[in-house]
Amino acid sequence: MITVKKQVNMAVPSNTVFDCIVLGAGIQGSSTAYHLAKNHKKTLLLEQFPLPHSRGSSHGQTRIIRRAYAEDFYTNMMEETYQLWAELEKESGIKLYRKTGLLLIAPPGNEEFESMCKIMEERKISWEPLTQEKCKLKYPDFFLKSGEVACCDHDGGVLSADKALRAVQEQFQKMGGVIRDGEKVKHIQPGRVVTVTTTSGCFEAEKLVITAGPWAQKVLSPLGLELPLKTLRINVCYWKEKIPGRSGLLQNFPTFLGVNLNGEEHEVYGLPSQEYPGLFKICFHGGNEADPEERELQDKPNQIQDIQILCDFVSQYLPDLHPKPAVIEQCMYTNTPDCNFILDYHPLHKNIVIGTGFSGHGFKLSPLVGKILCELSIGKPPSYDLKPFSITRFKIPINSSM
Ligand SMILES: Cc1cc2nc3c(=O)[nH]c(=O)nc-3n(C[C@H](O)[C@H](O)[C@H](O)COP(=O)(O)OP(=O)(O)OC[C@H]3O[C@@H](n4cnc5c(N)ncnc54)[C@H](O)[C@@H]3O)c2cc1C
Repeated sequence: MITVKKQVNMAVPSNTVFDCIVLGAGIQGSSTAYHLAKNHKKTLLLEQFPLPHSRGSSHGQTRIIRRAYAEDFYTNMMEETYQLWAELEKESGIKLYRKTGLLLIAPPGNEEFESMCKIMEERKISWEPLTQEKCKLKYPDFFLKSGEVACCDHDGGVLSADKALRAVQEQFQKMGGVIRDGEKVKHIQPGRVVTVTTTSGCFEAEKLVITAGPWAQKVLSPLGLELPLKTLRINVCYWKEKIPGRSGLLQNFPTFLGVNLNGEEHEVYGLPSQEYPGLFKICFHGGNEADPEERELQDKPNQIQDIQILCDFVSQYLPDLHPKPAVIEQCMYTNTPDCNFILDYHPLHKNIVIGTGFSGHGFKLSPLVGKILCELSIGKPPSYDLKPFSITRFKIPINSSM
């Protein structure tokens, strides 16, 4: 049972120097703050909007979790990630993960699909290839096209996102962590002790972790760092059955990922919805570039293109659903060019750590991202090889005069 408490910002004595300040209380910042508090670090978590809010990337009730990744390093990280989710469930007493299985669908010969199957097989992950006949038996409501291939990642499922965010923030506070919300960071003064000025105060800390989601570039530019990030507005679409309850879809709806279907580059994913009982959440994995401050002001024609792709997908693959979304909401992605995260130190200020570029797939990994950003911040050797997440993989100029 979760009680929603009004966040009341605690007064911070003026001579306090925190071990660490975390900028941004989305899932990555909150998880980092939680791990810092677990490591007995005096931590302040700052958030520009009153909590909870729906202006960034972490809101909504559901996210997909899966082991299937085409990159070995993510599959490797998922092992510990599942354990960390279970730990958080135990500590908070709240169920956050529901196992549904993840159905993967792709055209024949698709490299990403083949790589996921190969990695799951090599790592002895619980999965099964599905012939079209088997797929029809297991998921009778999905209509695959002739020649398309499918498999099931048995541990795929749904994370209760809003509950997870609240749970991690509450655990952080229980361990003595301080959250101040409705307090935007306006200025960061690097130094041996970092000074952070917000709309209502000034705070000092030995270390700073920046997890500002779609606002990352706005926070990092004044620190001389221009990362190749793109912020995208995502249309989150919910679909209803043509005849409610008839197809039995609700009882056995897996999470799913359709890769490069219909000869297109894009991915489509879906999951049972907790937001709207009786509706299904099916989304296009991408969107149009948008400033997070102007998310609601975008042109309609841009929206229609990705929604049309979804309408085509639904009418072909899930014909028991209405081919027009019943509800459309918005969320933001912050993408890097290779869609891998950024988990690294600021190149000039080693007591500033950056976690950004989660490219629309960071929620499931957030418990481990938090642990890694905490390790970087407290100077522990990171538990994983962070080369795929380094800033130096982008050949970018760094302005040392800032
Ligand atoms: C529609 C959608 C579906 C998704 N589906 C999945 C999925 O199925 N599985 C999955 O693993 N991932 C999924 N993701 C991705 C995942 O949700 C994100 O990777 C994750 O939420 C990113 O979290 P974050 O903490 O980096 O960003 P955010 O949640 O945006 O948090 C950043 C925070 O920093 C705050 N902030 C910024 N600037 C300042 C400032 N100056 N001062 C104070 N505070 C500041 C912001 O207000 C914000 O609260 C999805 C994302 C979207 C949008």
